[in-house]
Amino acid sequence: MSDPLSPLHQAVQGVFSPDGPLAKVDPHFSARQGQTEMAMAVADTLESGGALVVEAGTGVGKTFAYLVPALLSGERVVISTATKTLQDQLFARDLPALIAALKLPTKMALLKGRANYLCLYRLGLAREEGLFPDRYVVHLLSKVERWAKATDKGDLSELEGLDERSALIPMITSTKENCLGSECPQFKSCHVALARREAMAADVVVINHHLFFADLSMKESGMAELLPNTKVVIFDEAHQLNETGVNFLGEQLSSSQFIELARDLLALGAASAKGMGPWQALAAQLEGMGKTFRGLFAKNDRSQKLSWVGLAPQGLDEVLWQSTMSAMSALLQELQAAVELVEQTGPDWERYMERVQDMQARIVLFESTLEPGCVRFADVGGSVRLIQAPLDIANTLGPKTLSTALALNEATGPDARTISSPQSVEAWPDDASNPFDDAQIASKGSSASLSKPASSESPKAWIFTSATLGAEPSLSWFTQPCGLTHARVLQVKSPFNYAKQAVLLVPKHMVLPSDAKHSEQVSELSAKVIKILGGKTLVLTTTLRALKDIAQRLKDLLKEHPQIEVLVQGEGSKIELMQRFRGPADHEEGGFVLVASASFWEGFDVPGDALQAVIIDKLPFPPPNDPMVEARSKRLESEGKSAFNSYFLAEAGVSLKQGAGRLIRRESDKGVLVVCDTRLSTTGYGKRLMAALPPMARVSDEEALLEGLKRLTKSATKNAA
Ligand code: SF4
Repeated sequence: MSDPLSPLHQAVQGVFSPDGPLAKVDPHFSARQGQTEMAMAVADTLESGGALVVEAGTGVGKTFAYLVPALLSGERVVISTATKTLQDQLFARDLPALIAALKLPTKMALLKGRANYLCLYRLGLAREEGLFPDRYVVHLLSKVERWAKATDKGDLSELEGLDERSALIPMITSTKENCLGSECPQFKSCHVALARREAMAADVVVINHHLFFADLSMKESGMAELLPNTKVVIFDEAHQLNETGVNFLGEQLSSSQFIELARDLLALGAASAKGMGPWQALAAQLEGMGKTFRGLFAKNDRSQKLSWVGLAPQGLDEVLWQSTMSAMSALLQELQAAVELVEQTGPDWERYMERVQDMQARIVLFESTLEPGCVRFADVGGSVRLIQAPLDIANTLGPKTLSTALALNEATGPDARTISSPQSVEAWPDDASNPFDDAQIASKGSSASLSKPASSESPKAWIFTSATLGAEPSLSWFTQPCGLTHARVLQVKSPFNYAKQAVLLVPKHMVLPSDAKHSEQVSELSAKVIKILGGKTLVLTTTLRALKDIAQRLKDLLKEHPQIEVLVQGEGSKIELMQRFRGPADHEEGGFVLVASASFWEGFDVPGDALQAVIIDKLPFPPPNDPMVEARSKRLESEGKSAFNSYFLAEAGVSLKQGAGRLIRRESDKGVLVVCDTRLSTTGYGKRLMAALPPMARVSDEEALLEGLKRLTKSATKNAA
């Protein structure tokens, strides 16, 4: 533990004090014990190095609790958020506000994945090739060309009206496979390179978890590395790290890759190698192979994940599967032989060849025996993706943070200067083609330094934080899969008075969720709550089937109440639905109901009176037939552990906590939580899950809840009057 009287600790304490800079710029600022406690723990870790995991309940003010010590430390900081929305919010709102309040000369930069930036080279190529799916895309391209002349950053989010699913996006953005890097004729004006250059010159860089793992998994090694050397890495919304990492660290082979290979072959052949190879014939074969690949799964429903059984995905004939894989491999070999003849004619062909070889390697991977600690499955949708992924990120992230701790321990010894972290070298390679020389960073230091400028020997500090990192005090739900069992763990309780602000009901007389009548009963109870509140209710379901059923029933049950509007997940993006829910209702004294599943259990943030009830249909256990869930369960059982206790319960506990967390978002909020699953109060494991919920007051029956709601609405009306 570091010195509580160190200059950094004193400076942090000063910022959060009643007469500190935060209080001066914000008259509503009041020092919160939990926030200061977290800030001091972060300061400790910044000074001593190592990993800190902080679960900071809603309302703690965790963003400032990590930003204040990080900014005051003077170290180079990378902050990673779960989504681009949070990334933009941190960069556009929280960071500038704090930097201004602290009067620091800190330089910040926002860095996104390359798919967010206009690729000038491919924009030119798209116009030259003229292969557009429809006239709307042609119109959109003209709009992009006009914007391209004016934009400094090339960030596609600046461009209004460009749907992120537009067919134009892959034509005007780069991938690691098709980017020409320093050989690109547009390299000097390249927006991706510019964003990286700015990141390298900044003290604080805001990224997202996807980008972190894209870099970590070396998928970006074809060009300059995305992330600068850094001394402090902070992950906000860290609960999403494991699943994001697992997705990124996996390998994929998809039917659409064959279609893309065909399309790009035609374009490249026409642009730079006319008559030099059988491009049209090969493209037709590639396209046919993509269709054959997808066709193998024709009898499967859309959006289905199939486990790997023996040598092939579940339900597929092994002989047919293997002959298709062999045919794919033979076709790619034929393609490779043709491309070899033109490979030296330009960087485009070299990149194309790398893609072909990469796909060959993946075919070999999917024909080989599965490595331990991994899962393999087929994800069937519009296209088919074969996926092989690690079961967690423990072997990737853990050693990096552990090596930090080891370096820290060793750094006090005589050989401290020789100690380095091989993992860190892998994470932040010093690429000779990198336009941003690492030496610049080492000598740069930071503009807002209270402590020593960063030196290449000093250890990194790793901070992981979120409002929910587990249902148990050890936070092992988070630390184990991330390989962070060596980390210091801190839980900072929410400052909200849940016993006064919220009421919980587990209805006694409801049928079990497995009963066909369950959704009907959930809908009827929900409708009673909604009618009293005039909307203002979020109904969270665990399955899409329940979502559709409950949404339809609620629309029927509420049709006599036109002032209440029922929104359903899928009728707009999550942000659009959240904004509608927050905004004033169209009708006097009306409000919204949202029926949603999956991603709405977290990140749905509606403070104030617009949301006064959260209704959960059943305990959110993970789907047992999901290949990843199956593989994780099997691994635990092979270790002699109970998959139910160690995995299913832990996952359900975290999801339940996240869902319940939608209700109270600030100190003045009041509301009710209804969990329509009697197992929560009648089973032993239910009681364990209950203990993980915020300490809300309990009511024993529906009548008491509805009476309480009537009182709540009366007092709200009186206050408003
Ligand atoms: S360097 Fe890569 S991203 Fe930049 S313009 Fe060229 S191809 Fe596009």
